[in-house]
Amino acid sequence: MPSAERFAALQTIQRRKPAAVQAPSALSDIWASDVFTLDRMKEALPRSVFKSIQATIREGGRLDPSVADAVAGAMKDWATSRGALYYAHVFYPLTNLTAEKHDGFIVPKGDGRAITEFTGKLLVQGEPDGSSFPNGGLRSTFEARGYTAWDVTSPAWLMRTPNGVTLCIPTVFVSWTGEALDKKTPLLRSNAAVNAQARRVLKLLGEKEIAPINSSCGAEQEYFLVDNAFMALRPDLQLSGRSLFGAPPAKGQQFDDHYFGAIPERVQVFMQDVEDQLYRLGVPAKTRHNEVAPGQFEIAPVHEAANVATDHQQLIMTVLKSTAKRHGFTCLLHEKPFAGVNGSGKHVNWSIGNSTQGNLLDPGKTPHENMQFLLFCGAVIRGVHQYGPLMRAAIATASNDHRLGANEAPPAIISVYLGSQLEDVFNQIKAGQLKSSTSGGLMQLGVDSLPEFPKDAGDRNRTSPFAFTGNRFEFRAVGSGQSVAGPLVVLNTVLADALSWVADQLEARLAKGERIEQASFGVLQQITQENGAVIFGGDGYSSAWHEMAVKERGLENLRTSADALPVLQRDAIRDLFTRQNVLSPVELESRFEVYAEQYILAIEVEVRLALRIARTVIYPAVSAYLGELAGSLQEQEAIGLQPSKAIAQQIAGLNQQLVDRANALEAALGSAPHGAEAHMRHCADQLMPLMGELRAAADALEALVDDAAWPLPTYQEMLFVR
Ligand code: ADP
Ligand code: MG
Repeated sequence: MPSAERFAALQTIQRRKPAAVQAPSALSDIWASDVFTLDRMKEALPRSVFKSIQATIREGGRLDPSVADAVAGAMKDWATSRGALYYAHVFYPLTNLTAEKHDGFIVPKGDGRAITEFTGKLLVQGEPDGSSFPNGGLRSTFEARGYTAWDVTSPAWLMRTPNGVTLCIPTVFVSWTGEALDKKTPLLRSNAAVNAQARRVLKLLGEKEIAPINSSCGAEQEYFLVDNAFMALRPDLQLSGRSLFGAPPAKGQQFDDHYFGAIPERVQVFMQDVEDQLYRLGVPAKTRHNEVAPGQFEIAPVHEAANVATDHQQLIMTVLKSTAKRHGFTCLLHEKPFAGVNGSGKHVNWSIGNSTQGNLLDPGKTPHENMQFLLFCGAVIRGVHQYGPLMRAAIATASNDHRLGANEAPPAIISVYLGSQLEDVFNQIKAGQLKSSTSGGLMQLGVDSLPEFPKDAGDRNRTSPFAFTGNRFEFRAVGSGQSVAGPLVVLNTVLADALSWVADQLEARLAKGERIEQASFGVLQQITQENGAVIFGGDGYSSAWHEMAVKERGLENLRTSADALPVLQRDAIRDLFTRQNVLSPVELESRFEVYAEQYILAIEVEVRLALRIARTVIYPAVSAYLGELAGSLQEQEAIGLQPSKAIAQQIAGLNQQLVDRANALEAALGSAPHGAEAHMRHCADQLMPLMGELRAAADALEALVDDAAWPLPTYQEMLFVR
């Protein structure tokens, strides 16, 4: 029998009905209806203006100010005709969240009237006083100026809330001195880097016409839904997004009966609502299903240009959260809301390509394309081998640390899974058993097995952090709550750098008189010899791999963010980002500062929360129950019974442990050392284990204390009741 509060919550949930649904709208009626698309621009703008903006979007370059004025006018007319009174420059600070500054279209006139106005200048540039955003020392508050600037490659959209309609303009966010304060600027720069270096390689392979090369991303978002009636009773979930206490339920996910199971009705209605909104926003949501853990679900859109996919990913997170509220749920994007069941990731599917050569990571059908594919795939392998620790740093957050290496998600060691066929191809290349010099034609290169690839090259490997999946790589270790921008920046930059090396090598070999086939084979062989250690097709969860990876392969096992984030301070990483013009040394340093601070803050907030809950919720409940139990034992003795006191003693012992461990945790919280790195270590090595010990005492109590006296909704309730 649950406590009165939990019982009331359970009753509330039982009485809930799925929100009323309207018949789903026809896709053609709603698709991108709230997006200022190219088609809408074409309709609204003079031909020459449209051509100019179209060229800027396709090929980059600066926007002509007169064009900006015309576009702004058309955008405003379109938005106001749909009810918008405000516009917002939307940007992506270093917090993984989305930030917006709203301004009215209103301009008061001297004669007492007010009109709406929106100029090119207002469209292109904004100036939010961004002094409260984390900037890692890039700005002090007295130099608070931050600028937002329209990213023309990502379309504007209308955000509808109960308070009205806002025109949202995706922007970059930079400081007065021009340093990137956001996640979009480096992403755009990393695309430019990939474009420049991939182009070099394609030219050397003999390509004449090469359209701009861009990266693509399709991100699979996992999330949990918890009913709001439970949320109200769980301060830990409210404030930190994860449960800091909670004994394992008798049934977890052992039966694997939730994965791909029938979607509960209330959840299905929620999903439809989410998809309806996303379609209006032009976000191509495609896949939805139950995930492994009870209460866990997934939504995945079709892949798009990385930049647009990233903006859309932020929209997906926003829409999931706001829609959940309307359906009586809270959407948890935390990587590990519940200990003991699977956490949530965000698999980032990534490839690069263009409109002339297509997907450069597609094995293709002809030998020539195969060589192209092998070189690009080889470059990825080289990049991951050289910069695996950086990839680990790009996914380092306090919350993602709970997943990585926890035997349910990829290990913290970054390796590449190629699938058996492709791995075999690279092994052949390594052995060099077919020398390109002995014959012309690529058919003799031993890669003629390639066209027989099934689309999904080989099997899947759930235990790999970074897997080739037929025509793209899937970075599986990314956290569910993260912006995908950071991981994409790293993947693009690392690939650009490896491609630049490939191009250098090819050029040198061609200069020595080698033919391109020979040169390509030679470069590939060098890659397999120097970087093959990063290829691993076995069980990434096994302890044997963890040992082999470090001892024999020389890979790094960066278990926690405290281990991984300092990678950002390495000389090699600073040189990489400088060389590829993606982040200046100051910008990189600021990222280290900000992410280190966020890690520390996240853990220290959890510690304070755990202390508060242990002392003010759990201890009083247990003490009251002990009092009751003692009274009952006394009464039993009074009538001559001899009841066992064992349970009472056990509970009293654990309650004392709870108090002692809380005191130890509090003392540790107060003794944090100075300096970001030492402070992070303190969090990882002292606070996290002590918080775990405190939890262990509380969870043991939960399994002993009368259910009617237990104040916090249980795992069983939160995971299974909806
Ligand atoms: P699975 O669960 O089987 O991995 P999903 O369908 O859930 O697959 O997600 C696959 C994701 O990969 C989708 O977002 C899809 O659009 C994306 N994707 C497919 N091809 C590419 C590609 N060439 N580049 C980037 N992403 C891709
Ligand atoms: Mg998937």
